Amino acid sequence: MYEELRSELKKRKRRITAQREMILKIFLESKGRHLGVEEVCRELLDRNIRISKATVYRAVELLVDLGFLRRLNFGDGIYRYEIVDRSEVESHQHVICRVCGKIKEINSEMVKKIVSEISEKTGYIIENHDLKFYGLCPDCKRRLSGG
Ligand SMILES: [Zn+2]
Ligand SMILES: [Zn+2]
Repeated sequence: MYEELRSELKKRKRRITAQREMILKIFLESKGRHLGVEEVCRELLDRNIRISKATVYRAVELLVDLGFLRRLNFGDGIYRYEIVDRSEVESHQHVICRVCGKIKEINSEMVKKIVSEISEKTGYIIENHDLKFYGLCPDCKRRLSGG
C-alpha cells in the first residue's frame, strides 16, 4: 500500500511526506471504521504527532483524489473517510444509528441483485453506489426502551 502511494504521488509530482504516509497508516489500521478529520487528528496526537486540522484535511482529500480513501457523508455535516480496499470487488453498504452515530457495514445480496437489475435495465456499467440505512442500533434501542 505504501509503495503504491509513493508511486502514485510521484506520478503526480506530489511530495510524499511522512505525514501523508502516517495518515494512510491510521486508516489502514482502523479498517471498518469511518474517521472524520477530527478523529484522524486525535489518532495522530495519540502517536505524538501534532498536525493542524487544515493540513490533515488537505492530506485526506489528496488521498481521496488518489483513490486510497473514500469520502462518506452520513448527513451529520461531517465528512468521514474510509480506506478503499482495492481487492474488494463489491462495495458495501452502511447502517447508521441516528442516536449514537455508530456505523455498521453490511454486504447485502439484495443490493447486488438491485445493481445488476439496474445495469440490465439501463445498459449502464454500475461502478459505484451509495446506499445508507438510518435507524437505531441495538444498544440505543435497548437504552431507549428502558431495558
Ligand atoms: Zn446507537
Ligand atoms: Zn464503510
